[in-house]
Amino acid sequence: MTAPVQLNILTREQGEPTGSDTAIVSVPGRWYVPLGAERAFLAQQAGIDLREISERMAADMGERLHHAQWTVTGDPELVKSLGAVHDCVTCRAGMDQALAYLRERPDSEVAVGHLWWA
Ligand SMILES: [Zn+2]
Repeated sequence: MTAPVQLNILTREQGEPTGSDTAIVSVPGRWYVPLGAERAFLAQQAGIDLREISERMAADMGERLHHAQWTVTGDPELVKSLGAVHDCVTCRAGMDQALAYLRERPDSEVAVGHLWWA
């Protein structure tokens, strides 16, 4: 298990955020490159993908992205504490799904995002 990685997605939006929500996505294989017996995390690729995901999630909810903070981890306890920030039906369902995903794939990781709207 690797240490959690945090990625911040910034935009040009000024002023205070108007609201926020959380999201959890599974981590695609292209975010890693094999490094001997280990694997290295490609933060740049993850950043590019997470920006796109964040912008799309904002648009899908009729919002504009202010900024987003993502944590990549395979630790169910960390997923629980990060995902509990926004306690709505959708977020709870997303967290249950993510925890089941991690249970079924012991070496996998998910990205837990906190997205703020402009
Ligand atoms: Zn929510």
